[in-house]
Amino acid sequence: MNFYTTILGSGAALPTTARHCSGQMVNINGFRVLLDCGENTQTQIRVYHQRLLSCSLICITHLHGDHFFGLPGIVSSMHLCGRREPLDIYAPAGIAHAMQTIMAVSGSHIDFETRYHELTHTEGSLPVFENNLCRIHAFPLVHSVPTYGYLIEEKPRGKNPARRYAYCTDTAYTETILPHIQGVNLLCLESTFNNAFASIAAEKLHCTASQAATLALKADAKQLLLTHISARYKEPESLLSEATTIFPNTLLATDGAQVEVHY
Ligand SMILES: [Zn+2]
Ligand SMILES: [Zn+2]
Repeated sequence: MNFYTTILGSGAALPTTARHCSGQMVNINGFRVLLDCGENTQTQIRVYHQRLLSCSLICITHLHGDHFFGLPGIVSSMHLCGRREPLDIYAPAGIAHAMQTIMAVSGSHIDFETRYHELTHTEGSLPVFENNLCRIHAFPLVHSVPTYGYLIEEKPRGKNPARRYAYCTDTAYTETILPHIQGVNLLCLESTFNNAFASIAAEKLHCTASQAATLALKADAKQLLLTHISARYKEPESLLSEATTIFPNTLLATDGAQVEVHY
């Protein structure tokens, strides 16, 4: 069974030509979930040969612009491309008001139902979606606005154990997430800064690469994927080397990369 994520954007708040804002398309045996939708995500979907209309559901971590400013555009383009089936969007509270306001003031007409599921829980991990291929849980992260990580778990088939992919951005270092990501096959964690900027990371409620690696180690994750890389790192190898010192099986996300969730 296929289970992989295509990185559409691996950068932090300021997009560059090398790294766009946050976005990933996760494919679970043909079922596609869009995780975050920063500016330009719809173009990245085309660049990396994903299909706009094949996206079944969208999960937004938080309402900072680099994670959701692409949403009005993608919904509008889905309409222009002829989508008719409903679209489910999971996000922190405020998403419905924001989207309805943008659609109203821009005079946008959407020919399909957009169903906003607003997340408000402040602790624990809650199931938000389930079908015959996977189930998705959302759990709170620690950031300057309400933020959720998502755990996507495939349903077991035959003798194969169920793989799990956790997507956690943006967040300060917090061990409160460990119970929710314990033993995951692939852990995607934000890594905005390197060690030299640890105090800025703490102040801005982001993680360093070392902190991400420490969480991967404590969670007993099988593989770590670093994302949300600050635009200040033109050559971000320092982030990777700091992380691999603590957690060797670490990858650095790059736009366009396809990362499989291994058993
Ligand atoms: Zn961000
Ligand atoms: Zn943020």
